[in-house]
Amino acid sequence: MNRPALSVVIPCYNEEACLDLLHARVSAAAQAAVGEDYELVFINDGSRDASWPAMQRLAAADAHLVAINLSRNHGHQLALTAGLDLCAGAQILIIDADLQDPPELLVEMRAAMIAQDADVVYAVRRKREGETIFKKLTAALFYRMLDRLTDTPIPLDTGDFRLMTRRALDAFLSLPEQARFIRGMVAWIGFRQVPFLYDRAERHAGETNYPFGKMVRLAFDAVTGFSTAPLRFASHVGLALTGLSLLLFVYIAIGFISGSAVQGWTSTMLVVVLLGAVQMFVLGMIGEYLGRLYVESKRRPLYLVSDIAGPVQGTATLGY
Ligand code: UDP
Ligand code: MG
Repeated sequence: MNRPALSVVIPCYNEEACLDLLHARVSAAAQAAVGEDYELVFINDGSRDASWPAMQRLAAADAHLVAINLSRNHGHQLALTAGLDLCAGAQILIIDADLQDPPELLVEMRAAMIAQDADVVYAVRRKREGETIFKKLTAALFYRMLDRLTDTPIPLDTGDFRLMTRRALDAFLSLPEQARFIRGMVAWIGFRQVPFLYDRAERHAGETNYPFGKMVRLAFDAVTGFSTAPLRFASHVGLALTGLSLLLFVYIAIGFISGSAVQGWTSTMLVVVLLGAVQMFVLGMIGEYLGRLYVESKRRPLYLVSDIAGPVQGTATLGY
């Protein structure tokens, strides 16, 4: 197999307005880093705009570009997985299509990879331009909560923007799970991983494809994929409530013996409502894990490819 020195993998969903500039800037950055020995892998994740025709046009004019058209929208993490399956490079750069992550950092990231003898150089956001306070706040909160809950230390304020070696990517590709939280999975594989600080820019065009609902889903995938703490929570609450009910038992017994019993609609209702709420909550959490087990057990392909434009070097199963 002909292995280029570098693959740049870019998932795209409704990014029509970004593609030309993206292609130009990423090509220039790749050339500055490795000369002509690179490939670009664009994945069209079922865009509803004209991203796919635009990609076909770019691929026809540039032998470096492989464009993959998924059969429908599979979501960011699966689109990225498709690109990682298909790419062939000795080093792999993952980057978003909206140019929030400057491709020009590639040269410095490669330098950091060599200087620190690392397998993964992950970009850490020092600043986020042009994002709402709500997004910044929920993101900050989410990364901190995740850090407390999970057993795998997942770097804070880090997206999927990163440079990886082939051996790290191959290790990553050996993880088969359906619910994919890619930055966590990359952290899980180990090897030497080093941070690289940068300032995140505004979107070049279009709008975020991570509305609140998708962010919550990603957060659930992250927590359930990397931690069983919520399940342990059930037993902790159970233990605490057992302690409380013992105290309550003593209180009731004293009341009974001293003949001052009955009374207490308030306390009865409190106990009923509290127990009901806790039980529902814990049941829901167990349901989350159970649902994921169910999805895993179906063993469906992670994504399906409908078309490819350009030369393919990789070893992908193409999901068929
Ligand atoms: N994306 C994708 N499929 C989706 C949603 C997003 O491939 O269903 C891509 C999108 O084109 C972009 C990247 O994932 O390249 C990150 O999405 P976005 O910029 O909307 O997220 P944000 O930066 O706002 O978190
Ligand atoms: Mg973005």
